[in-house]
Amino acid sequence: MVTENLLAVEENIQRACQRAGRDRKEVTLIAVSKTKPVEMIQEAMKSHITTFGENKVQELLEKQKIITQPLDWHLIGHLQRNKVKQIVGRVTRIHSVDSLRLAKQIQNEFEKSGETAHILVEVNMAKEESKFGLMPEETEDVLREIAAFPNIRVHGLMTIAPYVENPEENRIHFRNLHKLLVDINHKNIDNINMDELSMGMTGDYEVAIEEGATYIRVGTGIFGNRIYIS
Ligand SMILES: *Cc1c(COP(=O)(O)O)cnc(C)c1O
Repeated sequence: MVTENLLAVEENIQRACQRAGRDRKEVTLIAVSKTKPVEMIQEAMKSHITTFGENKVQELLEKQKIITQPLDWHLIGHLQRNKVKQIVGRVTRIHSVDSLRLAKQIQNEFEKSGETAHILVEVNMAKEESKFGLMPEETEDVLREIAAFPNIRVHGLMTIAPYVENPEENRIHFRNLHKLLVDINHKNIDNINMDELSMGMTGDYEVAIEEGATYIRVGTGIFGNRIYIS
């Protein structure tokens, strides 16, 4: 199933890139494997997927114990400050830096090991109460402060768009995130030169690609529906 799903997703990505006049190489597919067994990750690896997204530190570390091949692991979910020390040296990107306090903690923990954290800052573009992320208006000020942290490199912005029936409804949020990134880059803030946009999930990644996504985070579309047992 994973293999077939990946073929279909890849075709959709290529078509969206074509529509947008973009090179396929500009878009990285993150296979969001949260809640899914390592066997499914291994199946995706057979289709040459090397970038995986997890949203829980514990689950990420458990999977890394079993799968020892070098992969790009991206942390995409809300990160608690007391978990930061566990991911030092273990993730390619943290997509979900949603506060200055969290960034400070990342700076402190990565500094202890002489590592650099490669991050994206999460923005709550639709201003949903239920979601993490900075408000668009405060993003520039927070970035100016994060820019001073020597062990953090900010690569771009991330957003989780609302759940919608029609993906076109989210186009405005993707477009606005892209615009926010361009606007902030134009201010020539020291140490801030962002070129990554993490946006688009199973329901709306094609629209996100049309609006400039460089990372799309696709879970259900690759691995099927998730079953949560609490
Ligand atoms: C679960 C998750 C995804 C993937 O969602 P799908 O709709 O299954 O593709 C993407 N981004 C984040 C932050 C997630 O937590």
